[in-house]
Amino acid sequence: MVTGPSGAGKGTLIARLVERLPELEVAVSATTRAQRPGEEDGREYWFLDEPTFRTRIAEGAFLEWVDYIDKLYGTLRSELVRIAARGRVCVLELELEGALRVQEDVPGAVTLFIAADVDELERRLRERATESTGEIGQRIRLARSQLEQAHRFRYMVRNDDVERATAALTAIVERELAFAGTMAAR
Ligand code: 5GP
Repeated sequence: MVTGPSGAGKGTLIARLVERLPELEVAVSATTRAQRPGEEDGREYWFLDEPTFRTRIAEGAFLEWVDYIDKLYGTLRSELVRIAARGRVCVLELELEGALRVQEDVPGAVTLFIAADVDELERRLRERATESTGEIGQRIRLARSQLEQAHRFRYMVRNDDVERATAALTAIVERELAFAGTMAAR
């Protein structure tokens, strides 16, 4: 499970990780936020309207869900089942609150925090330009407080250099997969 502030490069690092370790698969979350150009329904997210999302909450469809800056995001239990059925290990990308909840509820979940310098975060969000200036400000304020929470997760990887961060992340996950394999064989 990978967490960290918006703009830290979680998405990029996860894509690079999954390319290197084909036994991993990313769970597609549901969200009520608007689809960005280039995003596809069912690939980056399942894009739902709020009433549908709330119905799914009532049905117990989510492992966890959060309200992140007035938009809802949640991990679908059906994704975990689908990925397990393919014999793969599930990767979740979550904001901090949801990550803390999963860490408590799912024993054995490996948790990783992706950190970046706040000025660098701001630069990436402005460069990405997928949110309005006001929303970027909100994401930056939240990121500042979230960076102080890094110690609550098992691992932290600093994304100051994407090659180095990918190598560090891959090494951690490989070690954890080998350890899980050893435990399963006992
Ligand atoms: P974005 O709008 O940039 O795609 O995502 C905003 C934040 O929501 C990111 O920090 C992302 O990791 C987080 N996020 C995406 N899917 C989920 C989810 O299913 N649950 C939770 N708790 N956070 C999510």
